[in-house]
Amino acid sequence: MKIKVNEQLIGLTPYQPGKPIEDVKRELGLDKITKLASNENPFGSSEKAKEAIRNSLDELALYPDGYARNMREKVAQFIGVDENQLIFGNGSDELIAILCTALLSPAKNTVMANPSFSQYSHNATLQGAEIRMVENINGEHDLDGMLKAIDENTAIVWVCNPNNPTGTYISEEKIVNFIKNVPEHILIVMDEAYNEYSVAEDYPNTLSYLKDYPNMIILRTFSKAYGLAALRVGYGVGDPELITALDPARGPFNTSRIAHAAIVAAVDDQEFIQTCVKANREGLEQFYQFCKENRLDYFPSQANFILIDFNRSGQEVFDYLLRKGFIVRSGTALGYPTSVRITVGSKEQNEEIIQALTEMLGESR
Ligand SMILES: *Cc1c(COP(=O)(O)O)cnc(C)c1O
Repeated sequence: MKIKVNEQLIGLTPYQPGKPIEDVKRELGLDKITKLASNENPFGSSEKAKEAIRNSLDELALYPDGYARNMREKVAQFIGVDENQLIFGNGSDELIAILCTALLSPAKNTVMANPSFSQYSHNATLQGAEIRMVENINGEHDLDGMLKAIDENTAIVWVCNPNNPTGTYISEEKIVNFIKNVPEHILIVMDEAYNEYSVAEDYPNTLSYLKDYPNMIILRTFSKAYGLAALRVGYGVGDPELITALDPARGPFNTSRIAHAAIVAAVDDQEFIQTCVKANREGLEQFYQFCKENRLDYFPSQANFILIDFNRSGQEVFDYLLRKGFIVRSGTALGYPTSVRITVGSKEQNEEIIQALTEMLGESR
């Protein structure tokens, strides 16, 4: 090829999503596939959201409201912030990209935990910034190590809470101590993609710290607990001045009209969320029980997935499960090579995968 892309792209691979169900069906000739790989909601989404989408089908020819007023009012009211504190993205993935575009450059560095969500380093690399990875301790962010990695050229520090891929969380006390110690010129990104699933009493209410720390932005998404991953909507909450400064880096119609309608309805259906969160806790208990019975290490999870250490190649466990019709995430690509990450499914799905895993362990005894 004669075209020369920017140097930062060379060697970067596009995001590797969980294997699509259709591909697996075709490759292995299976007719039933259970995908527990991408932390999608096994119960789908609110019926009210679907109804709202059906009702918006006559407006497909119209551009969406670029300001997303209806969705903005609903979300602002629901979480108790002002409308000018919100920025919406085509998934929180786009917000991660917007933050990197707005704040990073080859002269800057960015500090993040490792392993954590891959898109922080991916987008930082696209901007040519220096990436400073701080190894997790026991699956959790080493917040002191992250503070030490910061210097005058640091522009963003990323906190994933609960962390993907471990499911571990950082308590309010630790978070407050951390944000107090981050210099004011550095943006703290709190990625809370799984916050609805977090039930620990000391899981931080970061929204309440925003007024004291205008150098923080909180990222949330409708892709996980709300089960609306197909619609691609995430949001950032921060100081109005920060939000205004970021807005030019956002595409003009980056969230769709259909999505706005669905999300207004979905936010009103908290009963759906509560049902899913409860089922998720029960599902996690199924996996904890399995791990205990089989003496497998795992990280207690505040999210809708669990990282289990099988003490053997995670890729092998992945391949075994694939042949049995289950798609999970191999820990190999996630920085935990002897583990797999399993999304908590419905009670039956959990029983089925636990059955397959029990057989796998039995075969190698
Ligand atoms: C899933 C996920 C996201 C991205 O979600 P979107 O679908 O882009 O909103 C962001 N951060 C973490 C940690 C995630 O697991």
